[in-house]
Amino acid sequence: MEKFECDIAIIGAGLTGLTLAYFLKDRGLSVHIIEARERLGGRINTVRYDDLAPQEMGATWLGKKHVALCEILEGLGLGIFEQRLGETAIYESISTSPPQLVKLPPNDAPSYRIQQGSSMLINTLAEKVNSACQIHTQQPVSDIEERGESVLVTTPNCVFQASTVVSTLPPYLLQNSISISPGLPAEIQEVMRLTHTWMGDSIKVSFAYKSPFWRAENLSGTIFSNVGPIPEMYDHADFEDQRFALKGFLNGAYFSLTKEERRDLALQQLHKYYGPHADNYIDYEEKVWRNDGFTFSPYESHVMPHQNNGHSIFQQPYFGGKLFIAGTETATQYPGYMEGAVASARHVAQQLEKLFDFTK
Ligand SMILES: Cc1cc2nc3c(=O)[nH]c(=O)nc-3n(C[C@H](O)[C@H](O)[C@H](O)COP(=O)(O)OP(=O)(O)OC[C@H]3O[C@@H](n4cnc5c(N)ncnc54)[C@H](O)[C@@H]3O)c2cc1C
Repeated sequence: MEKFECDIAIIGAGLTGLTLAYFLKDRGLSVHIIEARERLGGRINTVRYDDLAPQEMGATWLGKKHVALCEILEGLGLGIFEQRLGETAIYESISTSPPQLVKLPPNDAPSYRIQQGSSMLINTLAEKVNSACQIHTQQPVSDIEERGESVLVTTPNCVFQASTVVSTLPPYLLQNSISISPGLPAEIQEVMRLTHTWMGDSIKVSFAYKSPFWRAENLSGTIFSNVGPIPEMYDHADFEDQRFALKGFLNGAYFSLTKEERRDLALQQLHKYYGPHADNYIDYEEKVWRNDGFTFSPYESHVMPHQNNGHSIFQQPYFGGKLFIAGTETATQYPGYMEGAVASARHVAQQLEKLFDFTK
């Protein structure tokens, strides 16, 4: 077993974990980030090939109202661009009526995407914190244990002894996958058992194409369908508008099919709108988040979207100030979204400020 001692151990190198490390980087603390997956980013996951548009399998859109996120992006020098919707959308209301082309109303609060893809945010944060903290990948945490003045965090081949530990896992996943000793108070355990993990059971699909044929007259790359299996899809061209794709969600019920079966179902729907153009894709990407054990774990009982997100029970530390339960689902502002992840990181950084004397 390799052993590390540090001031702060952050569990999870998603947006919350990396943003927290970024906020702490000039504070003279020894910080270790412990990440289960080989890649960084958690629910931010851009699939990138040189000759194709970056395809977002996770977080994609933000708004100007997401001020904390916009501030971070600006500070890191990362630009955003408006999501292209076009003037019309293909709309299917019921299976017995043909799809219609409907006019979209003017949009006062457009959505934006990160130029070069959402993972640029993750990669840039990781670069910025690189000299101030150590990131350990492929280290799934199994145990968090209070031991005197410290907390021990255990993975299959490392033990981290930290003054303070910050979990950034979705709370439901935390209570379901990591043993915490001594056990947390019954109230928070009950809340965590009923805390929704945003998008945890969603499926993203993306088809890359040589040209944006959907921009032709009487067509659109914006799709809303009650018939499915794709309920929503959008033009996913890159920032330069040089490489093209259509990207959207597939109904989460299709998680148990094979990749080929999901692709064929999605293509059938696109074929209905665009004819043979749809079949000439150059790449198909998908991500079934429900099948990813480092995001999702099946609920024990029914949990509503956003249930218990931002709950007051997550706003205070445990183990006498040595354990924080962070992550986007715990944020009081925009929980579940990238904005919530940044807000959660900021909240914990402010609390740590009170615990550690940063002026030393
Ligand atoms: C399909 C999809 C679409 C989305 N679309 C949008 C969008 O358009 N706009 C928006 O704002 N948000 C969107 N989101 C939500 C956004 O992705 C999240 O709010 C944000 O990325 C959460 O960051 P986080 O760091 O709090 O959590 P996570 O990204 O879940 O990070 C938690 C980290 O913990 C790691 N981990 C898990 N278990 C362990 C363990 N045992 N040991 C160590 N590490 C562990 C994980 O691997 C992960 O890296 C979307 C999410 C998904 C899945």
